[in-house]
Amino acid sequence: MYELYERARSQLDRASIYRIVTLFEKLGIVQRVNIGWKYKIELSDAFAEHHHHLTCTSCHRVIPIQGTELERFIKKLGQAYAFAPTGHQVEVQGLCRACQPQPVASGLHDAETAA
Ligand SMILES: [Zn+2]
Ligand SMILES: [Zn+2]
Repeated sequence: MYELYERARSQLDRASIYRIVTLFEKLGIVQRVNIGWKYKIELSDAFAEHHHHLTCTSCHRVIPIQGTELERFIKKLGQAYAFAPTGHQVEVQGLCRACQPQPVASGLHDAETAA
C-alpha cells in the first residue's frame, strides 16, 4: 500500500487509492496478504504466478520463495486430511541473513542439526 501511495500520490489522494484497491480486491484482481498485524497488497494468483515470501521484520526485505516444495506439501496435507484445498496463504516472517545477529559459537548450529 505504501508503494502505491508513493507512486500515485501526485495524481490520486489516499482515499481514492484505498477505494480502487478495495474494488480490485472485490474483483479478485489483487489480494490482501496478512503479515502479522499489517498487510500487503499483491496481484492475485490469476494475474501473477502463485508464490510465497519470506519477509524480514527488521529491514522489510521481501524474498520470494523459489520452488514447489510448499505446494507439494499442501497437496499432501490435503490428501492426509481428505481435504480439497482451494487456496492458501503462507507468509514467513523473520530476519534475513543481513539482519540476523552474528551466530554465537555452536549453540545455534546444534539446534539446527537436531531439528
Ligand atoms: Zn533484513
Ligand atoms: Zn502456495
